[in-house]
Amino acid sequence: MTPPILRHLSDLRAKHATWIRAGESVAVVPTMGALHAGHLSLVEAACADCDRVIVTIFVNPRQFNNAADLASYPRTEHDDAKKLVGFGVDVIYVPDGGQIYPEGYATNISVTGLTDVLEGEFRFGHFDGVATVVAKLFLQTGAHRAYFGQKDFQQLMVVKRMARDLDIPIEVIGCPTVRETSGLAMSSRNLRLSAEGLERAAKLYPIMQQVAARLAGGESFAPLADEARIKLQAAGFNDIEYFDLRCEEHLQLLDRPTRPARLLVAAWMDGIRLIDNIAVDVLGN
Ligand code: AMP
Repeated sequence: MTPPILRHLSDLRAKHATWIRAGESVAVVPTMGALHAGHLSLVEAACADCDRVIVTIFVNPRQFNNAADLASYPRTEHDDAKKLVGFGVDVIYVPDGGQIYPEGYATNISVTGLTDVLEGEFRFGHFDGVATVVAKLFLQTGAHRAYFGQKDFQQLMVVKRMARDLDIPIEVIGCPTVRETSGLAMSSRNLRLSAEGLERAAKLYPIMQQVAARLAGGESFAPLADEARIKLQAAGFNDIEYFDLRCEEHLQLLDRPTRPARLLVAAWMDGIRLIDNIAVDVLGN
């Protein structure tokens, strides 16, 4: 049996009240649907940690800065519900648009600083949309714990900061990126790539791994990045928006991983924008 789908906040709140009365812990896994094994790894972690699990599916118009991207985003609710069978998910919350942005909705949540760079630079307004919808989902679900993927590393940092700054009593947990056997990070956007595009896109991960290994060997980032950009172009990535080494905490640029750091990339393959990131070993003294 697929988990029940709730579309109204009042129904979700009624369920939540019974769980809280019973002293149960509640987890939320926010998604935009088109579920794949990456999402399911979050669901698995949530079910292992908490008594009750809510998976949300909402394609949030406010976080798309491109109308065509929003229109073509895959919507596969029926299949998504089937994929959630067997994990122990209690509720799939698929809010009607009006549950999130009712008539006259006027509030925006904006996290400054962390959002000036990377995705924030190339997708204007994206993180306001993310912070706003995630704050609403935290408050609507009343969850104790929320599960996010490190695949969207900057998003994870932004969501953590938002919850902390607004005193929302929730623990935000980052889970490792799930990859195809080819190494390509799983993404709902991969569905839009051809078989050949998928093969070429899979070259991204080994290129990132090579750079990370050489950084760990003490090389400085700038020449490695130049080399990597040439390799990515040769693989068919025609627009590399960023290929950066940044510290994990503040997302400041680094030339060497002298503190916890990530290599973060956004690049276009066959008209599809792909992002990925990996941790880099910190250099010893
Ligand atoms: P999305 O539906 O793309 O908004 O993603 C919903 C959640 O799934 C976010 O927390 C993502 O970071 C996470 N996610 C997406 N792809 C992956 C992946 N390959 N591995 C782990 N988590 C992922």
